[in-house]
Amino acid sequence: MADAVMGTGTGTTGGTMVFAAIPEPDGFDEESARLVCAAFEDLREELPEFGRTFGLVRPVAIDLTAPSPYESLVGDVDASDRIAQIEPSGRMSINPDVFSGMLPPERAAVVMHELMHLLNMEILGRYARGLRGFQTAFGWNMCADASINAAIRDLAARGITATVTLPEGCIYPEALDELEHYDGAPSVPAWATAGGYYDFLRARIVHKGLGRIPELDPIEPSPELAERFEKVAMVARDVKSAILANPRYRGSYLADWSRSD
Ligand SMILES: [Zn+2]
Repeated sequence: MADAVMGTGTGTTGGTMVFAAIPEPDGFDEESARLVCAAFEDLREELPEFGRTFGLVRPVAIDLTAPSPYESLVGDVDASDRIAQIEPSGRMSINPDVFSGMLPPERAAVVMHELMHLLNMEILGRYARGLRGFQTAFGWNMCADASINAAIRDLAARGITATVTLPEGCIYPEALDELEHYDGAPSVPAWATAGGYYDFLRARIVHKGLGRIPELDPIEPSPELAERFEKVAMVARDVKSAILANPRYRGSYLADWSRSD
């Protein structure tokens, strides 16, 4: 399917690049659908490397009647706190009410954030460590959010972009630093992968003697998941090598992300 919307052309970064059509939003009213398309277009315009991912995703209006997966851990989750989420399938659920209240650079950043979650193939990182269960996924997601948001925030801080900027209230590494803190604890790194942050926080727990953290055997992904992620991994390699080839990103956390697995 994705191949049907892929093409080749000459991009702004010079040389031949692959681009993909804007994915078609599903289940939104006309105005919200327009804003979703505009967010993808703005992101592709500003950070064309991410246009290569568009064939992997399908934006859908979030189903707020389905409970948030986080409710079992944190109690009621306000609808306004549910902005967007993405599944390994590429189904990107977006809350149209929250989205329409954002500025265009914030909408582009939310789309980029979700795309990075997908390209991170996070469930595989958890499986590689033998981690299962929802509590783990919740902690991992916080670490992933901090990792992704630090990389996006850094782009504006370096003057690389002024039109992809996160909304207020996002999780950053500074917030992780408060978790499992103890006197003399080393600071959370300014940038690390999701797994890097997760391992860092686990090390703090061990240091405090708070928990026994057993070594777990890796979990094999299902054949369907493995097949899906083979495809995602190809795109991720493509995006990351394009970022690393572009001197504009040199020294940025996004470049660090591009060097990471
Ligand atoms: Zn997130």
